[in-house]
Amino acid sequence: MALREGLPQDSRALVLAAVDVVDLISQTVALKRRGRKFVGLCPFHQEKTPSFTVDPVKQAFYCFGCKASGTAFDFVMKRDRVEFREALEILAKAANIDLPQFGTAGQQQNKNERQAMLDAHSAACRYFEGTFADPRQGQVARDYLAQRGFTEESLKK
Ligand code: ZN
Repeated sequence: MALREGLPQDSRALVLAAVDVVDLISQTVALKRRGRKFVGLCPFHQEKTPSFTVDPVKQAFYCFGCKASGTAFDFVMKRDRVEFREALEILAKAANIDLPQFGTAGQQQNKNERQAMLDAHSAACRYFEGTFADPRQGQVARDYLAQRGFTEESLKK
């Protein structure tokens, strides 16, 4: 069962893969190409000569002036003064990525169903843990769980 889908960690990787940090930053900072990197005036401190660099290979930014640094997430968190979660939503939206655990009522419904499934799963685990040992009772338990889409494998996890 794909119960792990939609966890923030997965979404984070998905969004990072979809967002180009140079594109993102050039929306608010005028970047000029310099060698393998891009430079511009740092949006996080006052300066007249550019010390803000963006590395398209590392997909990261770094400022020699104020030492601000990080990925697309760090940039949005600093730029918009938001928490990681919100930065994730902003970037996902910009990249047209559906985050199933956020947003509309329909998506909320999915989340509730997943939670209900998880709850049923752990309740079933507790209830049937011992009964597998008994050949007769164990069969009943196995049938019940098979009906509900659980396998012995998934219960042992
Ligand atoms: Zn700076």
